[in-house]
Amino acid sequence: MDKVAAGPFQLPALPWDESALDPVISARTISFHYGKHHRAYVQKLNELVRGTRYESMPLERVIAETAGHPDSQKIFNQAAQAWNHTFFWSCLRPRAGGKPSGKLASRIDAELGGFDEFREAFIKAAVECFGSGWAWLAERNGRLEIVAMPNAGTPLATGATPLLALDVWEHAYYLDYQNERPKFVTAAFDKLLDWNFAAEQLEKGHSQSRKAA
Ligand code: MN
Repeated sequence: MDKVAAGPFQLPALPWDESALDPVISARTISFHYGKHHRAYVQKLNELVRGTRYESMPLERVIAETAGHPDSQKIFNQAAQAWNHTFFWSCLRPRAGGKPSGKLASRIDAELGGFDEFREAFIKAAVECFGSGWAWLAERNGRLEIVAMPNAGTPLATGATPLLALDVWEHAYYLDYQNERPKFVTAAFDKLLDWNFAAEQLEKGHSQSRKAA
């Protein structure tokens, strides 16, 4: 039996065909990034949680409960990478990019100095993230923030609501751009980021905090 299909955690299907993001991200990159790397995170997570209390938890709860604990670091890494990648695929859409509109656009204007300043700061954070990691747009305590996080870092583990993610591990771009991370980051930001998805995450975060209140 397929090791991932045996669960408890599953590898969700991609929201588009592997070739849909070409030429910004090639089908070859997606086939390795999703088919090998993302799959391996889910598979290793399944191996690590077998017979533990994490086995029956939603993925988000596994992340929350393992974050910051050295003795569960291995499980955190695989769980956060499994979640981050599923989220990342949803942040990308063929022929997207452009600019956000509506409430998200006004928030960026008010809190991040407008779209152009935000774009520059996000790209800079992604390019300068040392080693492997992620650039995020997130909302924390009612404020938007741009944050770069190393390795399996995720805003979920720090009490923030993730709105957009950009994977800057070398496996995300090396086949298409080799060492030129800035070219990958700029092209992905300008041509693939799905602002409607980010706006939905903002709304969802608000309705969850209303429920919790
Ligand atoms: Mn990745």
